[in-house]
Amino acid sequence: MMLCPCCSGKRLNQCCGPLLAGQHYARTVKQLMRSRYSAFALGNHGDYLLETWHPSTRPDVSAEELGQLDTQWIGLDVVDSSQQGDKGTVTFCAQWQDEEGQRQTHREHSRFERITGRWYYVDGDIG
Ligand SMILES: [Zn+2]
Repeated sequence: MMLCPCCSGKRLNQCCGPLLAGQHYARTVKQLMRSRYSAFALGNHGDYLLETWHPSTRPDVSAEELGQLDTQWIGLDVVDSSQQGDKGTVTFCAQWQDEEGQRQTHREHSRFERITGRWYYVDGDIG
């Protein structure tokens, strides 16, 4: 059984898998953030990344391009999250490995918004 790449310690099919497969929507911003990380880490989930991106900030790229595995993601730490009404934030550190095999950290404070019951990633401050 494959463990979920979001580092929850759960199996993929009991964690982000059902979200990626479109079986249900993320209930919390944390869940959405973790599933988007898993989509990036697994690759081939460009459709999911686009459909969970806020329409006002959604990048003009194809699902194929977004689904490419150009970064090797190796770990996730959700540092903090908050939700107030239809707005939410998540601060996280994601680890990736560069070409020399060095561990690098991407730290981001992301913003989310809920529209008609579904959470979307809006944007984030990096660093
Ligand atoms: Zn997960």
